[in-house]
Amino acid sequence: MQYVSTRGGIASVGFAEAVMMGLATDGGLLVPSELPHVTAKRLRAWPALSFQELALEILAPFVGEAIPTDDLRALIERSYATFTHPQVTPVVEVDGLRILELFHGPTAAFKDVALQLLGNLFEYLLARDGGEINICGATSGDTGSAAIHGVRGKAGISIFMLHPKGRVSPIQERQMTTVLDANVHNIALHGSFDDAQRIVKDLFNDLPFKTELSLGAVNSINWARILAQMVYYAFAWARVSGGDPERRLSFSVPTGNFGDVFAGYLARRLGVPIDRLIIATNRNDILARFVQTGVYEIGQVYQTLSPAMDIQIASNFERYLYYLHDGDAQVVCKLLETMRQTGRLQVDQRIHTRVRDDFEAAAVSDAETLEQIRLTFARSDYILCPHTAVGVKAGGARSDLICLATAHPAKFNESIQLAIGREAPLPRSLQGLLDLPTRCVELDADPECIKAHIRSTLAGRQA
Ligand SMILES: *Cc1c(COP(=O)(O)O)cnc(C)c1O
Repeated sequence: MQYVSTRGGIASVGFAEAVMMGLATDGGLLVPSELPHVTAKRLRAWPALSFQELALEILAPFVGEAIPTDDLRALIERSYATFTHPQVTPVVEVDGLRILELFHGPTAAFKDVALQLLGNLFEYLLARDGGEINICGATSGDTGSAAIHGVRGKAGISIFMLHPKGRVSPIQERQMTTVLDANVHNIALHGSFDDAQRIVKDLFNDLPFKTELSLGAVNSINWARILAQMVYYAFAWARVSGGDPERRLSFSVPTGNFGDVFAGYLARRLGVPIDRLIIATNRNDILARFVQTGVYEIGQVYQTLSPAMDIQIASNFERYLYYLHDGDAQVVCKLLETMRQTGRLQVDQRIHTRVRDDFEAAAVSDAETLEQIRLTFARSDYILCPHTAVGVKAGGARSDLICLATAHPAKFNESIQLAIGREAPLPRSLQGLLDLPTRCVELDADPECIKAHIRSTLAGRQA
């Protein structure tokens, strides 16, 4: 399989390059040059497959010749052996709701599904093709810990993760700083999350520095992340439908960067019988507004009880624009240029009709989020995390609905306490974290200072 850029400015690349590249060199995002299609016969066979077997079937055509099937199978096995549930991402029934639990990985949030695989893919490709990668990122919580756990102890990879000191939750901080592997470098920044993000952008924009140090990213635009996330839509569909190709199911998806729900959109394009895809947002409703009006316009970022969705610019949105316009990179470039100049873009009427066929959307307030947690708990003793509660509320009373549970509630116990007057019990992966030894350096929010630190750390390692 070959990959092209949403902006049309690169020669096509293979799977390995697409994964290692992250962002395309023309600034666009990588997309496969064609989409495979699932037959009804395969759909009928799916319920008998384990998560890992289904993952192999879905990933194989996208990987193509780049990785031999036996190696790919081993990578998938290794990636999901770190999950504590035998089904990896089970669907549970709660008070008439179907919840797709995506939080049984090492950091108790859905990003593990993709980042466990991505870490192993990086390690495999680097060992085979040579080279090394130094991952650099900024985090306000979930992404940083999932990325660190994805690459800890892996050969050829180091990770430098910046978080704003004192501004991530104690559990989230410990999930990062208690990882003592030699290739993991936590930096607590004297500054805000925006400072951290700005600095990381600075490092990547310093091309000589980026090249010298082989900087890489694991952010949500990496194609392999989308790919890994398609699998659980297929898995949930197979388990709930029993493999009947006529049985269409809908999914409600708590959305921030548009990565998760975009994976659902692609799963449907592959032929998974998905009916409605519901974009569930919190007060940061840029995507919900887009679905309703066809206008994509940046507003202010609000802090909410579902912080992993406190995002205005949804980085995967560009991929959707590309598919909406049937792969016309010129139109994508034009729309993005308008966006850059005016902070706003609008699709035409015909395209907006398509958007409304593809998605439904709803924005959910903090008060509604707490009410949903309270309601579900009162009816069933099941505790939803705030992000999941946004999805459940947005999904409403629809039949044939599956709601994605994106985090374990114990990661957000302040909100749980607020909603139901008690905390969610900690899963095993989060127990004892506060007593473990930690390693982390504190640095000023100055790009030069961060660069010097990265340089000297890597030099020290080689000495
Ligand atoms: C990252 C995250 C989301 C949003 O996912 P996107 O792919 O950015 O849409 C939702 N819930 C939780 C718990 C997350 O960590």
